[in-house]
Amino acid sequence: MATDASSYIPPHADLGQLMSAAKGCQACPLWRDATQTVFGAGPPDARVVFVGEQPGDQEDRQGGPFVGPAGKVFDEALDIAGIDRRQTYVTNAVKHFKWIPRGKLRLHQTPQAPEIAACRPWMEAELALIRPEVTVALGATAAKALLGPAVRVTRQRGQWLAWEQPGRITVTVHPSSILRTDDADRPAAMGAFVADLRRVADALATPSGAEPATAQSAAEHGYRPPAGGSQAADRAAPVDPVAAPTQGEVAPQLRLDL
Ligand code: SF4
Repeated sequence: MATDASSYIPPHADLGQLMSAAKGCQACPLWRDATQTVFGAGPPDARVVFVGEQPGDQEDRQGGPFVGPAGKVFDEALDIAGIDRRQTYVTNAVKHFKWIPRGKLRLHQTPQAPEIAACRPWMEAELALIRPEVTVALGATAAKALLGPAVRVTRQRGQWLAWEQPGRITVTVHPSSILRTDDADRPAAMGAFVADLRRVADALATPSGAEPATAQSAAEHGYRPPAGGSQAADRAAPVDPVAAPTQGEVAPQLRLDL
């Protein structure tokens, strides 16, 4: 078995070709129990890329990222923050669903460092092709995959962090954490998530190239820059936004009056 997914990545591939190649990836054991590879989705010229942890149960079944309950929270938060999901690219640090059986349920398991490292070349290739103005890590797994083990989402959420890639990067919570929050605390958790996303919306309204206000050292995070450079010509082929929910699909119980 390959140590990481690098050998599965075709040279000079565009996003559509990457997605096709990822369907056959067996660089770590997670493919064995998953239904399918869940690759990123969105336009190749997206100005913002959101990176989550891994597909969930619904994503694994449907084949698209953020199409399950957490995706509905994500869509609602984006909508409130004024970000059109159709203009974003969403993906995960790990492309196969890791789970254990519990009765009839498939319970999510957090991917471990070797699995994240094995899958990293796919995420690196996506970012190298899209070259977004803003990258957003959703949750600790994505934050560590992008910025290294020192990053702390609880302490650094909403801040602009320095890295060795073009564009800005920030971290916030994974929307699934809002679903796990007690009912009484959920509006506040959602409000904080929306506030983080509003900073992203503000950044997208700021001319690109402007300096982040609170950049921290890349060395502090131990970030290893993705391989490859600008491949603008390769960005022409769009990735099928498979099963991406529409802006209208929201979780009514979480709708807030913000
Ligand atoms: S999780 Fe990533 S590295 Fe592992 S088999 Fe799936 S696509 Fe390949």
